[in-house]
Amino acid sequence: MKAVYPGSFDPLTLGHLDIIRRAAKICDTLEILISENPNKHGVLSVDERVKLIQDAIKAEALTNVTVQSFSGLTVDYARKHNIRVLLRGMRAASDFEAELEMSQVNNFLSELETIFLMTSPQYSFIRASRVWELLRLGADISSLVPANVASYLKEHISGYLQQN
Ligand code: ADP
Repeated sequence: MKAVYPGSFDPLTLGHLDIIRRAAKICDTLEILISENPNKHGVLSVDERVKLIQDAIKAEALTNVTVQSFSGLTVDYARKHNIRVLLRGMRAASDFEAELEMSQVNNFLSELETIFLMTSPQYSFIRASRVWELLRLGADISSLVPANVASYLKEHISGYLQQN
């Protein structure tokens, strides 16, 4: 089974990485797809996000996982690459409604099937926006993101966030 895992990954968190690690065991190949949204610029550039994810999957030796960026519909990307399965993570009931609707839209558009993996309990409170919130307030975020992401954010981003 070939699957695509779309998201913003701004930044990659341990919650994302847990889903990626578990999905890599049940998929032949997994493509992480950074969805570029021209109306919603992230804190990190798309190139920074790609590099951080590449380094994290290398550190985990996940040889069947790749990362790409794409602007446009995930269903178009999937069709072009002959992928029938879309992967999403689910944290809590609060994720459910938006995910249900999105999976129905994607299925309506091109019969893409969405498979959900439920968060591991120790990661259920982690979301990317919380990482920025905590970093801005000077908290230690090293137990929320992979080690390479934590050191990159501390070195390049935390000073900038605290000044802005
Ligand atoms: P976030 O919600 O953290 O900003 P994204 O928009 O990049 O992340 O989400 C990509 C996918 O990863 C979504 O399906 C989202 O529900 C899932 N996800 C994000 N954080 C977690 C987590 N802690 N546990 C499980 N899945 C998660």
